[in-house]
Formats: sequence, C-alpha cells, structure tokens
Amino acid sequence: MVKINENYLKLPGSYLFSTIGKKVNAYIQAHPDKRIIRLGIGDVTQPIAPAITYALHEAVDEMGHKETFHGYAPDLGYGFLREIIAKEDYAARGCNISPDEIFISDGAKSDCGNIQEIFDESCRIAVCDPVYPVYVDSNAMAGRTGEYEEETGRWSRVIYMPCTAHNHFVPELPQETPDLIYLCVPNNPTGTTLTRDQLKVWVDYANQKGAVILYDAAYEAYIAQDDVPHSIFEIQGAETCAIEFRSFSKNAGFTGVRLGFTVIPKALERGGVALHSLWARRHGTKFNGAPYIVQKAGAAVYSEEGKAQLKEQVAYYMRNAKTIYTGLKEAGYEVYGGVNAPYIWLKVPEGMTSWEFFDRLLEEAGVVGTPGSGFGPNGEGYFRLTAFGTYENTAEAIERMKKMPSLKK
Ligand SMILES: *Cc1c(COP(=O)(O)O)cnc(C)c1O
Repeated sequence: MVKINENYLKLPGSYLFSTIGKKVNAYIQAHPDKRIIRLGIGDVTQPIAPAITYALHEAVDEMGHKETFHGYAPDLGYGFLREIIAKEDYAARGCNISPDEIFISDGAKSDCGNIQEIFDESCRIAVCDPVYPVYVDSNAMAGRTGEYEEETGRWSRVIYMPCTAHNHFVPELPQETPDLIYLCVPNNPTGTTLTRDQLKVWVDYANQKGAVILYDAAYEAYIAQDDVPHSIFEIQGAETCAIEFRSFSKNAGFTGVRLGFTVIPKALERGGVALHSLWARRHGTKFNGAPYIVQKAGAAVYSEEGKAQLKEQVAYYMRNAKTIYTGLKEAGYEVYGGVNAPYIWLKVPEGMTSWEFFDRLLEEAGVVGTPGSGFGPNGEGYFRLTAFGTYENTAEAIERMKKMPSLKK
C-alpha cells in the first residue's frame, strides 16, 4: 500500500488569496456599477520591453533553422548568460563571483523552494515574521518544521524573527541557533531593507555559528539608497556562508516568461563538502535547463537598450510606490517600504485588524490590498499595497482612500 508524504497534510490551508477572491467577488455582485482597483497582486503589469521581445523573436527564428537550432541547454545555463551576469551583477559591484558559481533556472521560487533538499532533515530554519510563504512551506513538505499550531499560526520547529515597526523591520539575532536563515532583501511583504552594516551582522553570525544564509534578492532592481547592498556578496565573508537567489520577474517582467538564477560560491562548505557540488548534482538530476529562447531574452536584459528600457519600467512602478507612500502619509497613515521596493506596508488604524481594514477599504474605497496577517502573526495590524498597477489606477486608489468615511479623524 502506498503511503503518502504526510507532511503535506500538516500544511495549513492557503486561505489568503482565495478569501480575498471570494470577498472581492461578493462585492462585485453587490455593487456591479463600482470599479474595483486591485493593489493586492504581486504580479507585474507592464509588458516585456522592446529590446527583450526583439531578442525573443531572434531566438525563435534561430530555433527554426537547422544551422542555429538548439536542443537541451547546459544544465547549469548557457555561458553567454552566466558570463554577463557575473560581469554586470557582480564584478560591477565589486563582488568576486565567477560564471561557474551561477546556476540558471526557471525562476527564484523554484530555487528558494528546492534549495532545502541539499540540507539534512534535522536542520532548523529561521524566518522573518511576516514572510514570503515559500520558505516555510517547502521546509514543511520536507518534514523539517515540526507541528503546525493553529492558535499561534506557527510551526513548532521554526525559529521566527519578528519584523515590526518596533524593531524597524530589522530581524534580531535569534535566541536559538538556526542552521538555515532565510532573508529577503528588499523585503516582500514589508518593502523594507537592511543596510550593509545590518547585513554584516548576519554574515558574521552565520560564519560564527556555521549556519547558511539563504538570501532572496528578487527585488534588487528596486534599490534606490546607496547603503542598501544589491547582493549579499558585497559583504565581506558572505562567500563562506551565503546562497543568493535572483529573479528576472520583477526587474524585467518575466513572471510569465520564467528565468532566474542562484549563486553558490565554491568557498561555501559545510561538513567538508562544497554546497556548490551538491546543488550542481541536484540541478543536473532534476532540471533540464531553462529554454535557449528565454536565456537569450535574459541576456538582452543586460544590453544597453535593455538596461535603459528596464530602468524606465522600474521607475514607472516606483512612481506608483511614491504616490502611495506620500498620499497615505498625508492622509495620516504610518507607512513603511516603498523606497527600495514596490511594496508599501501600512499600519492599519488603531483598533482594527488587518482583515477589518481589508473589508473597510473594499467597502468604502473599492480598493483591494493584502492583509498583513496573511504573511504571519506579526503581520497582524499591517496591510500591503503593491506598486505594480497602472499609474492612473494607483493615483485614483489613493484619492479614494483619502476620502474613506471611516478614516475621517
Ligand atoms: C516574486 C518573488 C520571487 C520571484 O519568483 P519567480 O519564481 O522568479 O517569479 C522570489 N521571491 C520573492 C520574495 C518574490 O516576491
């Protein structure tokens, strides 16, 4: 008799986006004349930039000719892409990362979710609270998180690091010693960052304890302030304790095209084994390479035209972020994020829960956001708005929010 992986049964239902969907549908039924504005989605809305669609077309044509056809891509990615990444994302920032320390993949979600496979089941993980759910759920599936406690919304073996206005969204070194530390900078959902000095504390801690930092830099392109590092490898000592995940989804709109990469320095060893060799083995066994066409599109991201067009795209979203941030500040809200990230994290008015605010916002302004409590217990009392909409919708949403009757002081 087949036994299933019972760890899957321990996972709590992912009610967040389905509950949001149901509430929004009910509102639309009741108010067919009202136009809803969605600032809850984490997906981009601007189309793929011209330099990139041009590269896609060219690559498609290559695939249609015998002389230029490409079959299986190398497991770890094409040299042309790994070389340009090493140069543009790392060497240009003074990081000593070689092309063969870069693994091309179909996106950061897969890599963030799969990386735990190369570590023992007994490893303790530490995550920020609130957090992007992939880190915890992928470890839960592997049986690494203990039991889920409904009342607290926590797993018994996970070390939670609260990130709230109280500590300026900077996680504190935990009491218990973790083996794997997940950090996402700039952060989803809070939109906040760590400075070089703040990240150095974590790098030193991980090296001292023999822990490994799993660093998700999916929002790197949104960094505007000089003291926020674009890569953890800008920090001295990171090459012996960190793995970095990058994505083409948020900087270049590849959410539907699919491309990302993971950096594992060869100097990163645990138990006398280079983690690079384990991931190379895993990648080679379970992944057959990102498509040639898509890797060509990825290389176009680094072309002069590509860079210029994407800079504009990021600026477009960041103009939305600023509109939300300043608009809500003027309206008297406590707001965070939005400066180095396309997310604004706001404190809901005193005495309200995240879900109560969701309902008011929908009812009174026809605006949809995401309740902070959906990202973890310490997200309660907060609310996430994204800058990924159109400028017109974003500006209108903020005007509507300013006029909400229940928020009039
Ligand atoms: C969007 C996002 C990713 C990127 O995922 P892809 O699979 O590359 O699309 C990774 N981490 C976080 C925190 C994200 O929000």
